Amino acid sequence: MFIDGAWEEGTGKEWLRVVSPSTGKDIGWLPLGSRSDARRAIASAKANARKFSSMSVWQRAALCQAIAAEIERRAGEIAELLCLEQGKPITEAQGEVAGAAVAFRNAGEQIKWLESASFPVEDPAKRAISILQPKGVFGVITPWNFPVALPSIYYLGPGIATGNAMVWTPAPTTSLSATLLVECMSAAGVPEGTLHLVTGEGPVVGDVLVTSPDTQGIAFTGSSQTGKVIAARSTGKAQLLELGGNGPTIVLDDADLDRAAACIVKGALANAGQICTATERVLVAASVHDALVERIVAAVEKVRPQTSTDPASRLGALNNEENAQKVDTHLAEAASLGAKILTGGRRAQGMPTKLYYEPTVIVDVPPDCALHCDETFGPVIPILRFGSDEELYALAAKSPMGLSAALFTRDVSRAFRHAERIRCGIVNVNEASNYWETHIPAGGAAGSASGTGRTGGRHTLLEMSDLKTITFHVEP
Ligand code: NAD
Repeated sequence: MFIDGAWEEGTGKEWLRVVSPSTGKDIGWLPLGSRSDARRAIASAKANARKFSSMSVWQRAALCQAIAAEIERRAGEIAELLCLEQGKPITEAQGEVAGAAVAFRNAGEQIKWLESASFPVEDPAKRAISILQPKGVFGVITPWNFPVALPSIYYLGPGIATGNAMVWTPAPTTSLSATLLVECMSAAGVPEGTLHLVTGEGPVVGDVLVTSPDTQGIAFTGSSQTGKVIAARSTGKAQLLELGGNGPTIVLDDADLDRAAACIVKGALANAGQICTATERVLVAASVHDALVERIVAAVEKVRPQTSTDPASRLGALNNEENAQKVDTHLAEAASLGAKILTGGRRAQGMPTKLYYEPTVIVDVPPDCALHCDETFGPVIPILRFGSDEELYALAAKSPMGLSAALFTRDVSRAFRHAERIRCGIVNVNEASNYWETHIPAGGAAGSASGTGRTGGRHTLLEMSDLKTITFHVEP
């Protein structure tokens, strides 16, 4: 853990043995922190938060660039650990680390050009302006699917750029990677006591961040279930909640089916399907159903699970057994209700661990099963057919989540009509559901189970800043 500018083991006394999902070998031990460790970190963050106020925006921007350079310098080492700890193929891990560096660079660039306003007023003796200030101390809680890039893009880069002190609790199964990231941030010169890493169980140390009177904001990415608990327990604080997704990929009858199939396979298998914007379900016009399915199955059968550390691997391991069991359960329920597995459908045999899953295509999926309505988070492509537009909208609305969707059509009018109708935060037309660049706003549709607030470039900078209005009385 990194508390008050020093590395330590915390006071929790318990340790987690970290076993690689990629190789099955032990890769380290993680101290599981106590509630008092989290409280000490928050107290230090509170005491040191004002250090940022003596730094100009230009200095914070330069710090972001220095962090990016340090990540780039250690990129190979971070990617290797990430591949071992998370389970993703080494090439994906390398891409993720590069993405983390870009995140700090973008935050450092964008903060320099973030303007606030002055307001025309009615009273001739008054002036009014607004300024952007840090909110104070942010509790940052993150998941295991992108342990390096996601915290950097969503919170750590924007948090440093906007001058917030932060206490970070990453998911226990990927906290070793987090330590390397914090080493980079510390080496680049983050002011002592403004950034803390408290490892441990979310309901223990994470809950202290959520409920402490000394955190002003909660920046959480994770499941919709945990998000609900955190939203309730952090009432009154600034909340930036990025939760689960199960967005539909919709294929209309005029779509380029080769492109649709290629994007669907890419969107479903990247990171073994463990992406909030993964292609979690395909809704296809009945008239092109069979032609699309044939293309998808052919493409999926070319991808085999391969040990994540192998540079040729395109489909690595799932991160943890709990998640793998969810995939098993969702598939078994759908199959018991009449869905047909065309390829895959089980753990891959002969791999170093049982966390490798065969890429799976399943058709005739009943609309009410978990595979369609819930988030599966595995390399699975469930396919359902629709007839009319109304049937499509009813299917799309079956899931309470509303994060991302994809839509394939050659007709721009149909694209706009459907994109505007589907309730979600981002719709990719003729592209995979998981396409995103880090400066584009993304987040859950209002009222959905996918969260509140927006990540992406200046949007996160604004979410992590307090807009303060200052008015002046000016003698005429
Ligand atoms: P999770 O909800 O189980 O855990 C997320 C984090 O919350 C972990 O660090 C965990 O330790 C912590 N936590 C758990 N219970 C807590 C509590 N009571 N109080 C405080 N902290 C607590 O999620 P996960 O399984 O680690 O991650 C996968 C989920 O994250 C998926 O649902 C995925 O869609 C979502 N996700 C969303 C986005 C997005 O941008 N919307 C991005 C990536 C992942």
